[in-house]
Amino acid sequence: MEAPCAFCGERKTLVESHVLPAFVFRWLRGRSGAGHMRNTDNPNLRVQDGLKFPWLCIDCEKLFNRYETAFATKVFHPWLSGNNQISYEDWLLKFCTSISWRVLKYARGQNENAQYSVEQHTLMDQAEEHWRDFLNDRVPHPAKFEQHLVIYDLVKSTNISDLPTNFNRFMTGEVTLDIVGSDRSLMTFAKLGRFTIFGIIQKGPNKWSGTRVCVKNGVLKPDKFTIPVGLLDLFREKATHSAMAMSNISSKQRAKIDKNIIDNIDAFAESEQFESIEVDILMFGEDAVLRNDDS
Ligand SMILES: [Zn+2]
Repeated sequence: MEAPCAFCGERKTLVESHVLPAFVFRWLRGRSGAGHMRNTDNPNLRVQDGLKFPWLCIDCEKLFNRYETAFATKVFHPWLSGNNQISYEDWLLKFCTSISWRVLKYARGQNENAQYSVEQHTLMDQAEEHWRDFLNDRVPHPAKFEQHLVIYDLVKSTNISDLPTNFNRFMTGEVTLDIVGSDRSLMTFAKLGRFTIFGIIQKGPNKWSGTRVCVKNGVLKPDKFTIPVGLLDLFREKATHSAMAMSNISSKQRAKIDKNIIDNIDAFAESEQFESIEVDILMFGEDAVLRNDDS
C-alpha cells in the first residue's frame, strides 16, 4: 500500500521502521544470558523486537540504516568490548539526530498526562522540521536543537543518595525512550543500554558540558561531564519503574530465566551484564540482587 513517507513526504510503498535501531535489540537478546528479553512494562512477555511502524519509504529507511550501521560498528560494539577512546565523524551527529527525530515522532502525544506550553508545542514542530532538514542536508547543523550523547560507566561509589538498588543494571542494560522536561526545558531521550542520546527541544537554564555531539568530528572517551540535575531524577524514576516491573515477574517466568542463565553460566560470568550486577552488590549490598521467594 502506498502512503506519504513520514520523512520525505513522497507517496511510496512504506516499510516497517524501528523507533530504536534493531541492532540494540539484537544486543539485548544476546546479553540477557537467555537469548531473550523482556519489556519492563509487561515483564511476563518475551519481546522479540522493538517498536516498529510503517513510517518510511525504502530510500529513507536506507538513509537511516547507514547511520545506524556506522554507530553500531564504530561506537556501540567497540565501546562495549573495551575500546573507550573512539574518534567519530559526521555520521555520529546524523545518527543521534535520526534517533531524536524518531523518538519525537513516536513519543509526542503518547503520554496523555504530559502538559506542554504553547511555546513548547511550537518548538517541537520546529525541532521536528529542523532535524529532518539536517538529515536531508538542507541545513548544515541542528542549530539550537542540539544532540547530546552521555555514555554511562559503572559507578562503584557515589555521594548521591537514594539511588535505586538496580541503578547500575538499569543504566547499562535498559533500552527505553521518552520526551522529558519541565515547564522551562524539553528534550527527547533515547537510552540504548549505556548510551543515552538527548535531542534538545527547549534547552532550559541548566548547564550541559562535555556531552554535545560535534558536527564534523570529535573523540568519545571517559571524561567529566555535566548534565542538568533534573535528569538524575529521571534516571532514578525510570530505574525504580524497571525494578518494580521485574519484581512482578511470575515464579514460572523466573524459573525460565534462572534455567537459561545456569545453562549458559560460563558466558554469563564473563559478560558485562554480570559486571553490572556485581557493582550493584558492591554499592547496595547483596539484597539488591537476591530475591526472597518466601515473600
Ligand atoms: Zn521517504
